[in-house]
Amino acid sequence: MYQLLEPHQVKLRAEAEEFARTVVRPRAAEIDRTEQYPWDVVKALSQAGFTGMTVPKAYGGRGFSYLDAVLVIEEMAKACAVTARIVVEANMGAISTVMTYGTEEQKKLAAELVLAGDKPAICITEPDAGSDALSMTTRADKSGTSYVVNGKKHWITGAGTAKLHLIFAKVFDNGKELGIGGFLAVRGEAPGLRFVRREPTMGLRGIPEGELVFEDLEIPADRVLVPPSGPSRGFFDLINAYNSQRVGAGTVAMGIAAGALDHAVAWVKEREQFGRPLAEFQGLQWMIADMQTQLTASRLMLHTAARSRGPDDSPFPDPSLAAQAKIFASETAIGIVNNSLQMFGARGYSRDLPLERMARDVRMFTIGGGTAQVLRTLVASKVLSMKLPQTRDGYVGKSGRDRAA
Ligand code: FAD
Repeated sequence: MYQLLEPHQVKLRAEAEEFARTVVRPRAAEIDRTEQYPWDVVKALSQAGFTGMTVPKAYGGRGFSYLDAVLVIEEMAKACAVTARIVVEANMGAISTVMTYGTEEQKKLAAELVLAGDKPAICITEPDAGSDALSMTTRADKSGTSYVVNGKKHWITGAGTAKLHLIFAKVFDNGKELGIGGFLAVRGEAPGLRFVRREPTMGLRGIPEGELVFEDLEIPADRVLVPPSGPSRGFFDLINAYNSQRVGAGTVAMGIAAGALDHAVAWVKEREQFGRPLAEFQGLQWMIADMQTQLTASRLMLHTAARSRGPDDSPFPDPSLAAQAKIFASETAIGIVNNSLQMFGARGYSRDLPLERMARDVRMFTIGGGTAQVLRTLVASKVLSMKLPQTRDGYVGKSGRDRAA
């Protein structure tokens, strides 16, 4: 199955598998039950070199590719989705954005934090601006050499635990709106960044999803990561980096499904009814074959997206391939986990087994990081090469420049 991988990737995957088996799996149920952020696992991830893997060697990382990270994420997700999400955010998303667009100082700051185990928070969504992110109202007003940020973000992963925050805000200079820019803030460095509420989530309970309020949060000019205009393409550049995070999120969904199927396969060989193992019933064999087929297709799509590059020499995965991979992997993963649980009969419904946790965890991935509907709109706009009426500017949260397919 892995013959297309490089030797170092086969080795890395084995390293991750061993770590997941010995460090992550024994903690997974407890992380879910206690809803506590797993600082111990995060420390071990950092020591083992699984945070900041994609950070270039010059900044202390391992200089790995997104595909390398994807291989690690799948192994973690088989054991614990919370841990896998931490690995995603410590290698893709905000850290990729900083390592691509940041100044030397910004890169050093982000690399140092992430290598030490920080899972940065990306702050885009607001109570009245979800899929329609361009309608955000959080604002950054220029004041001398600084910016003063005011607003509210919700459903921010890692709110209250993350140190580094990448905040999306509308930038104003003397009352004139310039567009959306990206700002870096480190929790505790300046007053004005407040964690006000934690969401009581269905799954993925070991990572807080929370509401953040910015009250006159002062951000110096040297912490502007992506300006709203000028040589930068503002929101387009920021959201472009999100394509790596989407591949990571799709991989977590696929990994949860792969883990659930592993459990189901072991169980149907062991459990006997009607005088023979469940594995001998064709009804279940065909379910297993379909699940494996969907997993293989998801894995291929995610690996292809991870290897791809977007238009205009983008250092990030192609937006359409990343969207297609996330849609397919997240939607099929829900069905695979559901069917794996079904094979356990009543036992699958018990909290004594990991299947019910996996069913709750996997449900998120058609929602966060771009819903399956909004991502379909993105794919359709590329295939049709046309503006679609169901979004603000005809494209999914992006400027028209993202049109090239
Ligand atoms: P809405 O935008 O209100 O959508 C509601 C429904 O309508 C959805 O089914 C959607 O698909 C559909 N819909 C909306 N517009 C269209 C359209 N044009 N065509 C067809 N259907 C449409 N955000 C962050 O900024 N940072 C984070 O770290 C973060 N982490 C998250 C973690 C979790 C666990 C979850 C669940 C969400 C997280 N989010 C985060 C927020 C997430 O990105 C948003 O939930 C998502 O963008 C959708 O926004 P919404 O929830 O407001 O739904």
